[in-house]
Amino acid sequence: MNTLNRKPKKLDADFIKNSVSPLDYYHHELSKAKLKKHGWNDGGLCPFHADNHAGSFHVNVVTGAFKCFACGAAGSDIIAFTMALYGLKFVEALEQLANDWGLV
Ligand SMILES: [Zn+2]
Repeated sequence: MNTLNRKPKKLDADFIKNSVSPLDYYHHELSKAKLKKHGWNDGGLCPFHADNHAGSFHVNVVTGAFKCFACGAAGSDIIAFTMALYGLKFVEALEQLANDWGLV
């Protein structure tokens, strides 16, 4: 089979979420945070406000959810994180994730 034919015509959010591990994703995006393999982790300094002390920003490496208790930034998955961090629309975030993680 020609692998080019496997490219989905429209990027699907479930496909992205099933293909990219939140743990791997946050290891990449939050390279300074020491992440464990389960549940909610201290995500280090919050990327959504001028954070200068750790402890308020948390990510869930199983579901991809994130939450900052200082500025209120929050979302339910890595797509929401990508949108918020890079100022992207939903479809743009899917495209960026697909490109970054070799899914296209
Ligand atoms: Zn914050």
